[in-house]
Amino acid sequence: MNIYEEVKDAKTIGISGHIRPDGDCVGSCMGLYLYLKKVCPAAAIQVMIERPADVFSCIRGIEEISYDFKPITEKFDVYIALDSEKSRIGEAEKFFDQAEKRINIDHHISNAGGSGDVNYVVPTASSASELVYDVIGDKSAIDADIAKALYIGIIHDTGVFQYSNTSPKTMKIAAELISYGFDFPELIDKTFYEKTYVQNQILGRALLESILFMDGKCIVSMIDKKTMAFYNADSHDLEGIVSQLRCTKGVVCAIFMYQTDTLEYKVSLRSNGAVDVAKVASFFGGGGHVRAAGVTMQGTFYDIVNNLSAQIEKQLK
Ligand code: 5GP
Ligand code: MN
Repeated sequence: MNIYEEVKDAKTIGISGHIRPDGDCVGSCMGLYLYLKKVCPAAAIQVMIERPADVFSCIRGIEEISYDFKPITEKFDVYIALDSEKSRIGEAEKFFDQAEKRINIDHHISNAGGSGDVNYVVPTASSASELVYDVIGDKSAIDADIAKALYIGIIHDTGVFQYSNTSPKTMKIAAELISYGFDFPELIDKTFYEKTYVQNQILGRALLESILFMDGKCIVSMIDKKTMAFYNADSHDLEGIVSQLRCTKGVVCAIFMYQTDTLEYKVSLRSNGAVDVAKVASFFGGGGHVRAAGVTMQGTFYDIVNNLSAQIEKQLK
């Protein structure tokens, strides 16, 4: 796909990523936004996403995004959904649906068919940001700001080139991107590794209260609403906890969940590959990748652990 060819006649372009935006969601949306602003100067372009974590304020142009989902037009000429199927772009879904032309760029295996009129879904890609790099036909239009946004997306979805979704192609793209000269060590430190004191405290608490089960093959931990309120924390403060749980020796599948309502939890799943967690999450209406997936589930903590365990156990047998 050449994204410029797809959108060049559009007067209005909307861009959205998934709810609870992570680094790849923000990086891919902003990288594409900055690029399209450059190559389609006459078009009105709007990014509609939820407010991301503060660490992403280092991306150029992010101050132009308002998070109120008030569209510049009810009917966009083109609407692009990134890093997500259309049903997970939240309040922007209706603008996607109403658009003249819908484009979906994603790397989630649970969205294999794509949900646009034009789809570029590559489950083997490390990140949506890698795919945005792919669809930029004229690479000479890339500048340091675009490169930085896409690089942030790639480092977040690959765990700084550690996860198995990192391919030689990912590394080649990353090499190309750092040649634009932004301060990548600082970017990695500030957006990926650095935690606030409170974030580290919650991480510590989640590790302390974790429970091993299935002969030590699985681990689970949970943070309830009361604890979140005690630390004055929101969902952004819980990023990374599930990956740390997964690093426990002997564990093949980690579950972390936080309470979103009386009987509702947002569940994150991570695996070392022995369990396909996209399959587990999809069974309950969520999705993701083989080694990293998520879903929102109803019930008590114990109900949810029981339901997840049954699906995980099926695969381990
Ligand atoms: P996380 O656990 O970090 O929220 O998400 C892990 C992966 O699963 C990400 O690629 C994310 O986009 C995907 N994911 C998380 N929650 C959901 C969900 O509720 N539905 C779907 N389809 N994918 C999800
Ligand atoms: Mn992604």
